[in-house]
Amino acid sequence: MFYYPPLKVMTDVPVGNHYGSFGVKRKYSYHCGVDLYCNKGDFVFAIESGIVTETNWFTGPKINLPWWNDTRCVCVESDTGVIVYGEMQEFCKIVVGTKVKRGESLGTVETVLKKDKGKPMTMLHVMLLTRGTKETDIPSWAHDTERPKGLLDPTLLLTQCRINYAFNAAFRPAIESLSNNYIA
Ligand SMILES: [Zn+2]
Repeated sequence: MFYYPPLKVMTDVPVGNHYGSFGVKRKYSYHCGVDLYCNKGDFVFAIESGIVTETNWFTGPKINLPWWNDTRCVCVESDTGVIVYGEMQEFCKIVVGTKVKRGESLGTVETVLKKDKGKPMTMLHVMLLTRGTKETDIPSWAHDTERPKGLLDPTLLLTQCRINYAFNAAFRPAIESLSNNYIA
């Protein structure tokens, strides 16, 4: 199965010491996901088919993280693991137990940051957990500690989405015209 890009415009995947990359050191902890910069209201698509295992508050006053806006997350358990789509608002049809298909829209991106500090304020925060893991069981990744158990690096997964996105944009029309010729 091929990974479906989670955003209509699948941006570059931050790596290394970029502030959006996985495991990068931030003020209070290491970053436990990868940030894909986008716009408020952008649709979020399922990367893989699977089952919704959680929909939670993710940031904001509702869960005592008042320095951020209220945003939510959707967790979908699929072949690769539990993919967490964070800093968004899910559609009401997306509840625990919902079966989602690869490419199906789950909701829309919310703006997480309150203050403009010259960096992007709106992003899809993607996390990857081992199958069977709950998002709420992953502690924040404190400085000078090991990566929390059950937390995986989603960089390769997202890079594959980015490759598929770029490849489709560049070659899909050519491939379709080829197959049309075969049909004819
Ligand atoms: Zn993030």
